[in-house]
Amino acid sequence: YQEIILDHGKNPRNKGKCDGYTNDAKAHNPLCGDKVHIFLKLNNEKLVEDLSFEGEGCAISLASASILTELTKGKDFLNMIKNKSKITLNSLTEDQVTTITSLSGVQEFPMRVKCATMAWHTLLSAVEKK
Ligand code: ZN
Repeated sequence: YQEIILDHGKNPRNKGKCDGYTNDAKAHNPLCGDKVHIFLKLNNEKLVEDLSFEGEGCAISLASASILTELTKGKDFLNMIKNKSKITLNSLTEDQVTTITSLSGVQEFPMRVKCATMAWHTLLSAVEKK
């Protein structure tokens, strides 16, 4: 799984501030020194129209944020979280399945779980703002 993480860590997707964002949230992981700031543009149907992130830290935290922005663009993130059954393998491309599998490999390293999940929690709090 390391290859995918390294690739996303080195070449993060959707980095920077996206135009006309409506919500944002920040997080900081003092254990590792990771920082992430997520920007997203929600439309009236609560669909994530666009999103991006700024951050610094270890490869896993950057990769996780990068993968997150790829997977959730154009989707209803709250619904994805609430109704996990909706994220079926059939609705994902083979690449996305590999990516998720690669991130779940991180769970073998408890110290790294915070790095891997921080961006996801941050996106959730950004979506839930106002
Ligand atoms: Zn980290």
